Amino acid sequence: MSLTLNPRAEALKISGIRQFFNQLPNYPDAINLTIGQPDFPTPEKVKEAGKAAITANLTGYSHNAGLVELRQEISAFFQDTYNLVYNPLTEIIATNGASEALDAVFRTILQEGDEVILPAPCFAGYEPIIELNGGKPVLLDTSDTGLVPTAEAIKALITNKTKAILFNFPSNPTGVTLTKAQMEPLVEELSKHEIFVVTDEIYSENTFEGSHTSFACFDAIKDRTFLVHGLSKSHSMTGWRMGFLLGPEQYVTQVLKVHMYNTVCASVPSQYAAIEALKNNRDAPEMMNRAYRERCDFVYGKLTEMGLDVVKPAGAFYIFPSITKYGMTSFEFASALLKEGGVAAVPGSAFTKAGEGFLRISYAYSMPTLERAMERMAAWMETLEKK
Ligand code: PMP
Repeated sequence: MSLTLNPRAEALKISGIRQFFNQLPNYPDAINLTIGQPDFPTPEKVKEAGKAAITANLTGYSHNAGLVELRQEISAFFQDTYNLVYNPLTEIIATNGASEALDAVFRTILQEGDEVILPAPCFAGYEPIIELNGGKPVLLDTSDTGLVPTAEAIKALITNKTKAILFNFPSNPTGVTLTKAQMEPLVEELSKHEIFVVTDEIYSENTFEGSHTSFACFDAIKDRTFLVHGLSKSHSMTGWRMGFLLGPEQYVTQVLKVHMYNTVCASVPSQYAAIEALKNNRDAPEMMNRAYRERCDFVYGKLTEMGLDVVKPAGAFYIFPSITKYGMTSFEFASALLKEGGVAAVPGSAFTKAGEGFLRISYAYSMPTLERAMERMAAWMETLEKK
């Protein structure tokens, strides 16, 4: 035997984001607008529930799918919030973050060469997990359609190899979401084809413009939809690693085996904290959303004053202006903004090649930080020439 590795692992590319982040320590005075996690603490009562579980020695394994009480709370949350019915005993798995739920789904459904349609620009974690599982990401470039996919574009990309489409609305990196009316034609098109719908709705509770509709709410596709969710963003719990997977029993039963052999169960103290989050702290995202909305209005206003073309976000905590008119790649633009302007933001190209020509700014930062950052950025933009 030789010491060769899995070529799929070796072929994974270190993301552009990393290359860019590696520059950050060289500019200690730069204002950092790159982070993709809420800047609020986990709610107090949720932290206490986690601590109490540890103190009470509730630190062993749970059922592979998660504590029954947690699954009941997850089920109640989706029923109350979105009128979605999922059986807690057979259709829900508590996972180690949404990341693990996504990986478990793709490991369960993909065979070598299967295609997964990805409306893009999209989260940098999607292409690698699809590739690692033998699949082929097929980008649906939304950069010319207001950062939202159209039914025509979906139709044009479906082949006999298409296994799934992966949605993420509200979106990281764009902050854009879909209205129910925008979803209807997409659902109609999807209902004509035998393909899975994987919908990562981790930012649903951080929708601050209009209301969130889940792809799982559409009867025409619910029987082949995997709903991926979790508390990382809604309750500022990124480090607790608490995700959820919801879907039809016949598929979730299969995913459960993959999850079980990968990780046994989600972190148990985190599951106790999650029960508290879903039972008594459903209003936590509202407080954060008030801040996000104010910050979003501010940053959107400033970027527009600077002459940047930008779609106004409706959720999450990112904004994604186009920088094409400055004649630089997004990596060059972000590097120059860092070196000359003293502001760190992420090049759009970190979010697949469909993100080229954009910049991702996170506004999960305090207003004073955003004010200083926008001042610096505006001063630097004055020095630029348009193409
Ligand atoms: N999906 C999206 C769109 C995300 O932005 C993130 C986190 N940045 C994740 C999934 C991963 O979430 P988790 O922390 O629950 O694994």
